Amino acid sequence: MPNFTKSKELFEKAKELMPGGVNSPVRAFKSIGIDPVFFEKAKGSKLYDVDGNEYIDYIGSWGPMILGHADPDIEEAAIAALKNSSSFGAPTALENTMTAEIIKLVPSIEMVRMVNSGTEAVLSAIRLARAFTSRSNPAKTKIIKFKGCYHGHVDPLLVQAGSGVATLSLPDSPGITESVTKDTLVLPYNDVSALEEAFNAHGKEISAIIVEPIVGNGGCILPEKAFLEAMRKLCDENKSLLIFDEVMTGFRVALGGAQEKYDIMPDLTTLGKVIGGGFPVGAYGGRKEIMEMVAPVGPMYQAGTLSGNPVAMAAGYTAISKIQRRGFYHELKAKSQYLIQGMQKVNQQFIDRAMTFVEAAGMFGLFFSEKPVKNFEEAKAADTEFFKKYYVEMLNNGIYLAPSPFEALFMSAAHSYDDLDRTIEAHEKALISLREAALA
Ligand SMILES: *Cc1c(COP(=O)(O)O)cnc(C)c1O
Repeated sequence: MPNFTKSKELFEKAKELMPGGVNSPVRAFKSIGIDPVFFEKAKGSKLYDVDGNEYIDYIGSWGPMILGHADPDIEEAAIAALKNSSSFGAPTALENTMTAEIIKLVPSIEMVRMVNSGTEAVLSAIRLARAFTSRSNPAKTKIIKFKGCYHGHVDPLLVQAGSGVATLSLPDSPGITESVTKDTLVLPYNDVSALEEAFNAHGKEISAIIVEPIVGNGGCILPEKAFLEAMRKLCDENKSLLIFDEVMTGFRVALGGAQEKYDIMPDLTTLGKVIGGGFPVGAYGGRKEIMEMVAPVGPMYQAGTLSGNPVAMAAGYTAISKIQRRGFYHELKAKSQYLIQGMQKVNQQFIDRAMTFVEAAGMFGLFFSEKPVKNFEEAKAADTEFFKKYYVEMLNNGIYLAPSPFEALFMSAAHSYDDLDRTIEAHEKALISLREAALA
């Protein structure tokens, strides 16, 4: 059993200083019912906590650390930029380099605006979608989102928003008025007929659909191709915009994100996580005709004191340069598959404990469920109580998973096959000890 003395002391203090002792709710481990771990440093695939315990990390700071922690090239680029000043609030060549690279790599993006977080990218993209579609039809005010998809803590989208919200059991959030959410239509994921019904009833008013093209915030859930195709078709027929929220999937499931993997082109895309190389960055982009609605060219206002920050641009550019190495995503996929197959092999001894796995190259997921999970209702029907016990066993065995049954897990270039073998061993140990505990 690892010792968590210092983490516990720090957490007691932190609770007096910050709500729940944290600066983002899921970090508090409330859905697991144990205290969180405080970290001191990390390198590659390994995390080291304040008590000196080592873990193999499958959170990767919730997505950004696709090259592993403390990547030497990112570190060097960030320090070099920092020495020339941490911020100008004025144009820099680095912003050209970064945005040109995003435009080159993400198939549907012709023009892009850098912001500081995924949340900011999403709130700007829906403002832009409404600005653009309402030019020809002022009735276009509604946005479709899907149950279990999370799009940052953007007011109109904080309804049935998966992971953090679900695991804390907030139905939605106080502080958000009905007038803000009345134009949000919430539909089940992977349900083409629900989509068709919504467009039949409200097509003229639907400004945009926003979707996680692979869900990462309601557990890891893959889209059915027909579902993505139906969205594209209905948006075209109704002059609505399709927004892919690729804050998680961008540069994670393929170089060009989920839009490249499934070959479906959205009108607007939001990005974050990987593109910051571990710094606070977001971006939204799309067709030039739409992006030119944004100030100062167009009337839709959106601004940011630190947007396009030089340190973040240098780090992010280095990250997205390194992942263009040939075979990068092939290796991530091979490792995710190896881990899943190893766990599945272990599971043959535990036939009463059904599990289902999902893999999308650099992200993957597991559910204690007999059948594959297609939407958030099915994710909630999995054995989330067992997940909590399993989580604690894995943590005690040095495996740091996301502390919620409704989160994706991340593979990085720094994970070695030895890390994966150790994870499979820990998985077996966890299931054995939970079986013994159940029999005792
Ligand atoms: C993480 C995430 C966001 C929010 O990004 P922040 O940088 O945390 O604000 C939005 N959408 C998706 C799909 C995400 O995974």
